[in-house]
Amino acid sequence: MTREQKNGMLRSIATDCRFTSGYTGKTAISPRVMEAMATVPREEFVPHQLRQLAYENSPLPIGEGQTISQPFIVALMTDLLCPDKDDVMLEIGAGSGYQAAVLSRLIRKLYTIEVVPALAERADRLLKRLGCDNVEIRQGDGYQGWPEHAPYDGIIVTAAAEHVPPPLKEQLKPGGRLVIPVGRPHGAQDLLLVTRERDGSFSSRSILPVAFVPFTRTGEDKP
Ligand code: SAH
Repeated sequence: MTREQKNGMLRSIATDCRFTSGYTGKTAISPRVMEAMATVPREEFVPHQLRQLAYENSPLPIGEGQTISQPFIVALMTDLLCPDKDDVMLEIGAGSGYQAAVLSRLIRKLYTIEVVPALAERADRLLKRLGCDNVEIRQGDGYQGWPEHAPYDGIIVTAAAEHVPPPLKEQLKPGGRLVIPVGRPHGAQDLLLVTRERDGSFSSRSILPVAFVPFTRTGEDKP
């Protein structure tokens, strides 16, 4: 993969960020996040036959009907979490493991949950091979979060839910941030930033219209 292709992706992220600043209020992604985007080899996370497209600023299929998100969206969601090197965070929807690899470079520990067994196994193997030692992945329905390691400084959901799962809000630290696409499974969705205030209350801000694969429920407690 050429440096040229990677630089093209980084430029395209910066351009998308400027174009969407009217929605997001953000004219640039922080240098730390851009550095992580520049470091993680995205070609490892896409199917072999699509490697030539790995540094296009677009989502790609990863099998099982799922996708690896668009690099700009990965950068934006990571930036919205305001990652700090001491943070412990949770991801719901590990998919290829790409978002986990990016975020794990910026924080102390990342827990991630993936509902599709084949994807969970593949992401686990790949993240280990790439030396992402501060990521722990488990297979399951992420609706209930991962209470054993809560509370989290940040939670990122990479599949579109019809509502914000209450257990995820409860697993946020005061001052913590939750980034989640909310809306219809294949219709209008909004990227939300939910913040748990210091006094324990929640505030929510709509950031950008987005298109994510649906959040699927398998849990026994499924409504
Ligand atoms: N973050 C991923 C994006 C993958 S797409 C990446 O960087 O590649 C979203 C993923 O969420 C899919 O793999 C899908 O299987 C998973 N998912 C959907 N509903 C889920 C649920 N309830 N719990 C955990 N994972 C879920």
